[in-house]
Amino acid sequence: MKDVPSVFGSLVFGDAVMKARLPKDIYKALQKTIKEGTHLELDVANVVASAMRDWAVDLGATHFTHWFQPMTGITAEKHDSFISPQGDGTVIMEFSGKELVRGEPDASSFPSGGLRAPCEARGYTAWDPSSYAFIKDGTLCIPTAFCSYTGEALDKKTPLLRSMDVISKQALRILRLFGNTTAKRVLTTVGPEQEYFLIDKAVFLKRPDLIYSGRTLFGARPPKGQELEDHYFGALKPRVYALMKELDEELWKLGILAKTKHNEVAPAQHELAPIFSTTNIAADHNQLTMELMKKIADKHGLACLLHEKPFAGINGSGKHNNWSISTDGGQNLLDPGDTPFDNAQFLLFLVAVIKAVNKYQDLLRISVASAGNDHRLGANEAPPAIVSIFVGEELNDVLTAIAEGKKYAGHEKVQMEIGATVLPHFPKDTTDRNRTSPFAFTGNKFEFRMLGSTVSIAEPNIVLNTAVAEILSGFADSLEKSKDFIGDVAKLIKTTITENSRIIFNGNGYDDSWVAEAEKRGLSNLKTTPAALKALLSKQNTELFTSLGVYSEKEIESRHEIYLENYCKTINIEALAMLDIVNQKIIPAVVEYKTDLANYFHKIPDGLDQSLEYDILKKLSDGTAAIGKSLKALENAVAAANGISDSVKAADAFREKVFAAMSELRIVVDELELIVGSKYWPLPTYGEILYSVI
Ligand code: ADP
Ligand code: MG
Repeated sequence: MKDVPSVFGSLVFGDAVMKARLPKDIYKALQKTIKEGTHLELDVANVVASAMRDWAVDLGATHFTHWFQPMTGITAEKHDSFISPQGDGTVIMEFSGKELVRGEPDASSFPSGGLRAPCEARGYTAWDPSSYAFIKDGTLCIPTAFCSYTGEALDKKTPLLRSMDVISKQALRILRLFGNTTAKRVLTTVGPEQEYFLIDKAVFLKRPDLIYSGRTLFGARPPKGQELEDHYFGALKPRVYALMKELDEELWKLGILAKTKHNEVAPAQHELAPIFSTTNIAADHNQLTMELMKKIADKHGLACLLHEKPFAGINGSGKHNNWSISTDGGQNLLDPGDTPFDNAQFLLFLVAVIKAVNKYQDLLRISVASAGNDHRLGANEAPPAIVSIFVGEELNDVLTAIAEGKKYAGHEKVQMEIGATVLPHFPKDTTDRNRTSPFAFTGNKFEFRMLGSTVSIAEPNIVLNTAVAEILSGFADSLEKSKDFIGDVAKLIKTTITENSRIIFNGNGYDDSWVAEAEKRGLSNLKTTPAALKALLSKQNTELFTSLGVYSEKEIESRHEIYLENYCKTINIEALAMLDIVNQKIIPAVVEYKTDLANYFHKIPDGLDQSLEYDILKKLSDGTAAIGKSLKALENAVAAANGISDSVKAADAFREKVFAAMSELRIVVDELELIVGSKYWPLPTYGEILYSVI
């Protein structure tokens, strides 16, 4: 692609297009709505809508859709064409302000967790002007929030926008105390790094487990996994490069700041990282990125796997949520500034995040909980399920010095009198050495690394924004009354560090000793989704969301229900897929090999050594017997779990019984795979899948 700057954003109804296509007063009114969240009058909306339609039609669009993010975790769209009959057999292309700002999709089939009775089919979508409209597949897509007839949020965007408002409000209170009179809004920014696998599509289509559940439910170890570490940052294979190139170009057209691409640790694993943007936009863009990865992979004869753990025994995929807070003027509040006053402000925001993460560690864990991510967090893979913060050695020394009221000796210029001396900057290389921490300070942002690769980044950011807002609100309450501002800031920083030091851990998060140490510190270790979800409705968590207006009580309860249901359904699908694959593919294959071997005994002349053949036959017989037992156990467990109506108990049964039975069955099948002749085995092996792209 030659002219990236002119292609960038060419499918987006962004600021430049608005300026060019809207009358000045309309442009101004819309800007006010976008920047300050003011109400948009219908006459203004009408003008915007027709300009949008003209622009979209010029680019070949024939339809529009309200594009939203229901509780499925992915996006939803229903396309309506612009055509309007003229009564004489002709049509014109029409799009009104009313159609732009509000939609009424029949929403009865989206998860609502009891928020909407099936008879109340109607839901509303409302335009989110802070995220630009764009064109995808010949359709003008309008990013929207989605709520029920009675106004409850049925999606992930609404609470995300609310959480951005609350943190803005509370952070502004703090900034005002530090004398900032100009900032109008404080924004949280996110850069989500996205991991994914690419395999050959023909191989993918031969694996029903990948088709139904996104992960392999069977598969013996391949002779070569990731042990040579030769894939990480390795040269891109031509097919992968071709896909990545097209992906970048399509993302750029949508105004998505795709920046970095490389091979990851596991064979067939890759990563894409964008330049950060405002959280709401980052969430929309990450959804589009995942969608385009799949779509473009398909065009290249590849399948993109976004599951957290497509393959046992090698790394799974995550999503690193790089998060910071900045003013609308662009000042990053997690960047130690150049003046003592800036430093004090930086330290106050820093300790607010530390306190928020300590206090709401359960909520952060819950925000990334899913059946898929259970294979990573607290399982065979890092990061652990324990939330802790890494701050780096230098910053740790500074924080320790503050807590102990001592001078910080490590840096000549620094004496830890807050508001009097200048802190060092914390360059990336001194803060980024620890790759095992779930929540790491990396110079001027925090990197939350527990996210699974498929999760909507809305979830963890709703929690982060709201939790930090709550702490900032407490800080502002006490500092607004202060008579000795900088002295009280210093005291507050000191007590906050002292009271929350248990969450700071700079060691190796993969180490077993950390689990014991964390327990001593009283940190929670919620290993599975059902275990984590038990903490969601605690008084502290409910109060956090309701007091700041991010979720109503009903909305949190509905989410609890949806997460549980989703967990049960996911495990149920995987279990059914396993049963089908074993019954329809594995057993017939093993039996065929067994029969061939048994027949062979009749044909071979007497007197020859047949101990090897006999040994294999014995293993096959033992194996099929073991399959029979495990199969029955899984069938029973699935039937029992499906009979439980209480969703908390059902989730426990799916985890304790069904998932356990699935693991048993897998062990037996995987052992057989290693001895059954390849011409009999009905599924592509791990080796054939992982090295399918050449
Ligand atoms: P890595 O973690 O692999 O070393 P980088 O440090 O290059 O990666 O960047 C990680 C991500 O952090 C990028 O998406 C980048 O845009 C994002 N990032 C950088 N600064 C900020 C910030 N202030 N707020 C949010 N994200 C940021
Ligand atoms: Mg990273």
